Amino acid sequence: MGAVLGAGAGPTGAGLRAALVSGAATGYPSGRRDARDAAPLRVAMLAPPWIPVPPPGYGGIECVVQLLCDGLVERGVQVTLFAAPGSRSRAEVRPVLPRTYPDRIERALHEVDHVGRVFDAVDDARRHGRPFDVIHDHCGFTAFAMADRISTPVVHTLHGPFDADTVEFYRQHAGKAAAVAISRSQSMAAPRELRIAAVVPNPTDVDACRYSSEKDDYLLWMGRMVPEKGPHRAIAAARAAGVPLMLAGPVQPGQEEFFRSEVAPHVDDDRVRYLGEVGGAAKERLFASARGLLMPIRWPEPFGMVMVEALSAGTPVIAFPEGAAPEIVEHGTTGFLVADEDEMAAAIADLPVIDSATCRARAKLRFGKSEIAARYEATYRAVIRDQSAPSLPGPELGLTKMLPDASAGLVMSDTGS
Ligand code: UDP
Repeated sequence: MGAVLGAGAGPTGAGLRAALVSGAATGYPSGRRDARDAAPLRVAMLAPPWIPVPPPGYGGIECVVQLLCDGLVERGVQVTLFAAPGSRSRAEVRPVLPRTYPDRIERALHEVDHVGRVFDAVDDARRHGRPFDVIHDHCGFTAFAMADRISTPVVHTLHGPFDADTVEFYRQHAGKAAAVAISRSQSMAAPRELRIAAVVPNPTDVDACRYSSEKDDYLLWMGRMVPEKGPHRAIAAARAAGVPLMLAGPVQPGQEEFFRSEVAPHVDDDRVRYLGEVGGAAKERLFASARGLLMPIRWPEPFGMVMVEALSAGTPVIAFPEGAAPEIVEHGTTGFLVADEDEMAAAIADLPVIDSATCRARAKLRFGKSEIAARYEATYRAVIRDQSAPSLPGPELGLTKMLPDASAGLVMSDTGS
């Protein structure tokens, strides 16, 4: 790896901590703006290595990266997207590895190779007088753990849930990069040592989404075939309500047994249909024409893109109040939050009271790609400003994480949540 090993020029601990604790990383407090804030930023966007941006089918992170690149380019930010070959973007695309690895997702070999090559490219850019101002990392764990080995500040979006392993990882490497949480719920679960620079929800491109106020007679469930996402609970609720259900999503390696025992026996191609993995126009039609999206989750879902995609298409969401669902679904306005399958079945009958144009308008206001890109740009600038500021020794040492409530208020306030 050609990064600056041991340079020790990573984010300055105490200074960044002080800024984060005071909320400076989440906005532009008066007196802290300077001339650099007006200059175009150069961002190295680090996508995962395994599949292209945008993804051919399933691929939540790749969708986020695509929309974020779009939104930033529209704001005049200079974005170079380091991604799998075959990627397309309004940003400048730099393919990194020679091929994609859709069957080897999360394999460390490819992630480390990918990140090592990108760090080399970032160092080369600096040597050639065209330095990047910030690396925005969406790629697993390698870049975060190595962020103090490169002199460019790293902003790392937390795409996954926290569990015992990831809490330990982020605690160990907490001081090396600034993290962005994608929901308040997720930020609450973070280890206190982690520096959450902002809470920024994932973006949607509402204007590009197919929209229909006329709905067909079916409900939709879309996701990975795992118990926590609840396709079997969606089947129970739809059956109880007497409304046909479409299930869409891949059966990924390791999910075959759950699908075979809990889902497949109910698929009758009439009341319950399984469409496999969907993408492109077929996926858009499914979202736009559904009476509602069912989200009977039983896990701390860190965000849940499918909810925002449904709202963008004018389709209300009925969700269990787990993870980020209460931050996305506005009960009675864009859908319903319900406790269990029985309540879900009852809420299905109430779907006609939800206005599809309101769902779309709320999605655009709260999660539109321009809004989200603006928040990320503010976060980059705050992190860069802080890294270049002198490190301040003082009592803030040890205050390494913003209070989740504070970050939520500062960053999410105009989302209406
Ligand atoms: N998706 C898709 N085709 C499918 C199933 C899912 O394109 O058959 C997409 C879906 O539109 C969403 C993403 O995969 O953009 C799933 O993201 P989400 O945050 O809902 O769930 P995750 O799997 O990341 O927990």
